[in-house]
Amino acid sequence: MKTDHVDLLQIHYVNYVQEFQQIMSEDGAYRAALEAREQGKVRYIGLTGHRPELLAKWVTKHEFDQVLFHLNLAQPFALDELIPAAAARDMMRVAMKPLSGGFIQPVDKAIRYPYSQDVHTIISGMTSAAEVKENLAAMARDVEEPEKDELERLARELGEHNCRRCNYCSCPLEIPIPDVMISSRIRDSFGLLPKGDGFYQKHKEKIFSCADYEPCRETPLCEQKCPYHLPMSTVIRQATAYFG
Ligand code: SF4
Ligand code: SF4
Repeated sequence: MKTDHVDLLQIHYVNYVQEFQQIMSEDGAYRAALEAREQGKVRYIGLTGHRPELLAKWVTKHEFDQVLFHLNLAQPFALDELIPAAAARDMMRVAMKPLSGGFIQPVDKAIRYPYSQDVHTIISGMTSAAEVKENLAAMARDVEEPEKDELERLARELGEHNCRRCNYCSCPLEIPIPDVMISSRIRDSFGLLPKGDGFYQKHKEKIFSCADYEPCRETPLCEQKCPYHLPMSTVIRQATAYFG
C-alpha cells in the first residue's frame, strides 16, 4: 500500500448481535484494531452495518471514531437513533448508497437528501466522469429548510417499506428481496433509473415464480427470518405488476 498507516479501519458489515459479540471478544477484531491504532498503523476505527438501531446501541456503549450506514430517500432509518447517537459522541458520520444501488431518481433529489442531513461524507458509487459531475452538481448549493422539509416528507413516504437491507432473509429462488422491497415504492412513485429497470428485467422470471413456489404457500420462508416482520411475499408478488 506504500504507506506506514491507514487513516480509517472499518469493522465492516456487522448486522447480528452475535457478530458484534465476536468482534468485541477478547481476541476479536476490535482489540486488533485498537492495537493497530496504538502502534500508529491506524488513525481511526469505524463500524459499518445495515441495522441502524443496533449500530446506534453499539456506538453508544463502545468507543468507535466513525460509523457508516445507509441513508437515502428510500432508507431514512439512520435519522431516528443512529445519527443523533453518533453526533452526541462527535463521531464521523458517513452515509452510503444515496441512490440506493441505482434505484432512486432524479439523481439531484437523491443526492440532496443525505446532503441535507447531519453527515460528514456521502459515498456514492459512480462509474463515469459524467456521473461524478452529476453528483457534484447536486451539491453545488446548500439545502434550505423548505427543501429539506420536502425531502424528509418524501423519505418518510418512500421508506414505508421499512426494509433495512439487513439481509437476514434469503430466498431459495434467489429473489433479491431487499432490492425489490426498497425499489417497489420508488418504482411506483418515480419510475426507475435505467439501472433499476435492468434489475427488474434480469430478475423477471424469479419474481414471477414466487407466487407458485410451493414451500412458501402456507408460510413464506423469507418472512420467518425478517426482524421487522415485513410482508415480503406480498411485495414480491405485487412487483409483477411492473411488467404490465
Ligand atoms: S415467499 Fe417468495 S421471496 Fe419469499 S422465500 Fe418464498 S419464494 Fe422467496
Ligand atoms: S426484508 Fe426484512 S430481513 Fe429482508 S433485508 Fe429487509 S429488513 Fe432485512
